[in-house]
Amino acid sequence: MLALLLAAAAALALPRGAAAREAAAAAAALTGVALSSMPARAAARETAAAALARLRRGNARFTDKHDDTDSRALRPLVDGQRPHTIVLACSDSRVPVEMIFDQTLGDMFVVRVAGQALDSSVLASVEYALENLDVHLVVVLGHEGCGAIAAVINTPLGASTGSPHLDALLSDIRPRLAGVAPAPPATKSVLRESAANAVGVADDLPRRSAVIKARLAAGKLIVQPALYHLGSGRVEWLEGAAGEAVVKSLGAVSSGGVNEAPFFGEKTTPTDHIIVVAPEDRE
Ligand SMILES: [Zn+2]
Repeated sequence: MLALLLAAAAALALPRGAAAREAAAAAAALTGVALSSMPARAAARETAAAALARLRRGNARFTDKHDDTDSRALRPLVDGQRPHTIVLACSDSRVPVEMIFDQTLGDMFVVRVAGQALDSSVLASVEYALENLDVHLVVVLGHEGCGAIAAVINTPLGASTGSPHLDALLSDIRPRLAGVAPAPPATKSVLRESAANAVGVADDLPRRSAVIKARLAAGKLIVQPALYHLGSGRVEWLEGAAGEAVVKSLGAVSSGGVNEAPFFGEKTTPTDHIIVVAPEDRE
């Protein structure tokens, strides 16, 4: 069970400090030596202190910059927010949403959770933005190299990671993958499954939320799945809800190439709530 938890943690690409603590805990469990006596504890505290110092310096630079040259951009934000887009993305540090879309403060209402897994908190956050902030676009953003997707693929069905929270997250994601690619883990592509998951989340949002369902039915909302490619920085806009078209379109990617967008322009998709928006309409 511990091995499963460690494997899942590694798949989720936990920070080095977290991985070190897990490794130390595993070693302590095997040897009977208390974690608190391990040198890893001092190293972890040192790493955390260095990270905190980095954040303090970074925020000082941020406030200096805006105090000197751009205070007019910050002050209106005190009175409220008017984001144009809701993004449901992964927590992965390589997918900073505002940066990859070249947006700024107040532009995007972002909900980030590993693998874009859905639970009440995630759905409530999306519903809040829809109900109170007059937003009409939800982007579900998966990404290349997603550790949460890899963890689902590598954790046998019915096995526990040892963490009920991680088990719940993987259980939410798993059905979006199995129906699309019922293949043994060794043959599954993390990239292809990440795309299937993004499409599946887009499809599940109205199933799980009456607020989202009503807005889609009223024609006031677009839910758009997408996939971010780590190496190129490119966002691929996905189509369809059933996943078949996505899997086909990603064939070139899984064999090593960078895929062109599978489809741009108006098209009727398997479900009526996912609309592919032409690139020129996105600005
Ligand atoms: Zn991820």
